[in-house]
Amino acid sequence: KLYSLGYLVIFFTISRLVSIIGKPSITNEVLSHLDIATRLSVNISDATIATSTDFGKLVQEIPAAVLYPSSIHDIVKLINYSNNGAISAPFGVAARGHGHSVRGQAMSPNGVVVVMSSLNNNNNNNNGKIGVFWESSLGFYYADVGGEQLRIDVLHATLEHGLAPVSWTDYLYLSVGGTLSNAGISGQTFKYGPQISNVLEMDVITRKGELVTCSKRTNSELFFAVLGSLGQFGIIIRARIVLEKAPTRVRVVRVLYSDFSKFTRDQEKLISINDGMDYVEGSLMMNQSPPNNWRSSFFSTSNQSKILSLISKYGIIYCLEMVKYYDDQTANTVDKELQKMMRGLNFVFGHIFKKDTAFVHFLNRVRSGELMLQSKGMWDVPHPWLNLFVPKSSIMDFNVGVFLDIILRQNKSTGPILVYPTTRKRWDDRMSVVIPEEDTFYCVGLLHSSRFNDWEVLDGQNEEIINCCEKAGLNVKQYLPHYKTKEAWMNHFGKKWKIFQQRKSQFDPKMILSPGQKIFI
Ligand code: FAD
Repeated sequence: KLYSLGYLVIFFTISRLVSIIGKPSITNEVLSHLDIATRLSVNISDATIATSTDFGKLVQEIPAAVLYPSSIHDIVKLINYSNNGAISAPFGVAARGHGHSVRGQAMSPNGVVVVMSSLNNNNNNNNGKIGVFWESSLGFYYADVGGEQLRIDVLHATLEHGLAPVSWTDYLYLSVGGTLSNAGISGQTFKYGPQISNVLEMDVITRKGELVTCSKRTNSELFFAVLGSLGQFGIIIRARIVLEKAPTRVRVVRVLYSDFSKFTRDQEKLISINDGMDYVEGSLMMNQSPPNNWRSSFFSTSNQSKILSLISKYGIIYCLEMVKYYDDQTANTVDKELQKMMRGLNFVFGHIFKKDTAFVHFLNRVRSGELMLQSKGMWDVPHPWLNLFVPKSSIMDFNVGVFLDIILRQNKSTGPILVYPTTRKRWDDRMSVVIPEEDTFYCVGLLHSSRFNDWEVLDGQNEEIINCCEKAGLNVKQYLPHYKTKEAWMNHFGKKWKIFQQRKSQFDPKMILSPGQKIFI
């Protein structure tokens, strides 16, 4: 309680200071005369305070106002006001999906934050509903979903038709627009590509205040620019997503390794099997990152003690997680198929753990951990996360330099650490997202929670990891990137920087969109 009280005091002192020092580039006076004024919350209010922070709780930036759009026309008007300069100098406009960024990416310091979920609450537009359709000429199903909608709602709506999207994130309380602005990755990515690779068409509000429909064939420049763009080129209002027949159940298998090279070799083998596993991930287990955590309560109490004794023997254990989907038609063959795919895997003898669960529970597996942490007041704490893409050729050095030399030795980490491979062939290079050059690369997630006001210590460790990778020339790329200087952003984009800059001058020359990413400051 004392900690949360202390946190609140610091929070409001900082809010006050920011509000005194910060000089809005659009004034409340001007905003209060706009014809969308009734949907704007101005001054220091619950709305501006709420949107001045995010899941990360590391950054606070107060907007001049918050827009609760009742329809897309409100957003169009706001963008026009900012862009045409008639009422003030251009001001920042940030779409806020579900505010689950960790570094202020959906904030708009001294500008306007658009609370996208407000579209969902107002049924006077089509975006409040999820439509499921059959494309007869091409022979597949798709869903039209609002950019503001949460992945969990997309799942429930499509399951009503016995269908589901194919590419997921581990956690489903994230918006479609927010995930498409990054990539949307999980253990299915090796098979189907990230979520940005599974979009057929989008409606995007451009800086000109126009609603433009784009796809690979129509307005393709905008289409590819927006996917993985960190919100820089337009506001996603609708996305058309590929669907497939949904399985009903899944077999989950976890096996443990003490040897990192055997672990990665087996992961790579599994993702190379044609029509093989439906999901492959992996994680680290150490004293500070135990078998069960908020992301997963997979292991029974007796299995946990078995695993803990393995951890105390080796210091660090690598857990490979694989999943095969099935339904009534394939229930008799799923085990045989699994056995075949797992033949020759080199895990520690006897350390194999299995579970069978409903498809929907598997996809929504993180929710129960979230609710448990929420009930203990441990969800809304600072999250200094670091997500990296590591090329296959660097992953062994990454294990030694980062997992063993920094994380294990320093013993500071508090939270799940993920590591799993994926393949470049499912990512279209025309999209704005940046990934390593190699065909196979690893997704690494250091998902720290700071419960004891120690987030700066954990963030210091993140810096050390990045420096270590740079020094060793490991060519890692940040996912959900965050940099403090333009040079660092240029370095991140590498040969894509030129096109990213061109796209910015084409689609948002006044640099009003998603200023919280701090790319063009
Ligand atoms: P916000 O934080 O609201 O916005 C993110 C960025 O997108 C901002 O720049 C914002 O302006 C922009 N934006 C939002 N909506 C739109 C729109 N409609 N049009 C244009 N731009 C828009 N990511 C993964 O890939 N895989 C995971 O498994 C995964 N797990 C996660 C688990 C947790 C618990 C959390 C907190 C995050 C996780 N993430 C994961 C990261 C997540 O995908 C990103 O942080 C994502 O941006 C969050 O979505 P959001 O709706 O909260 O976006």
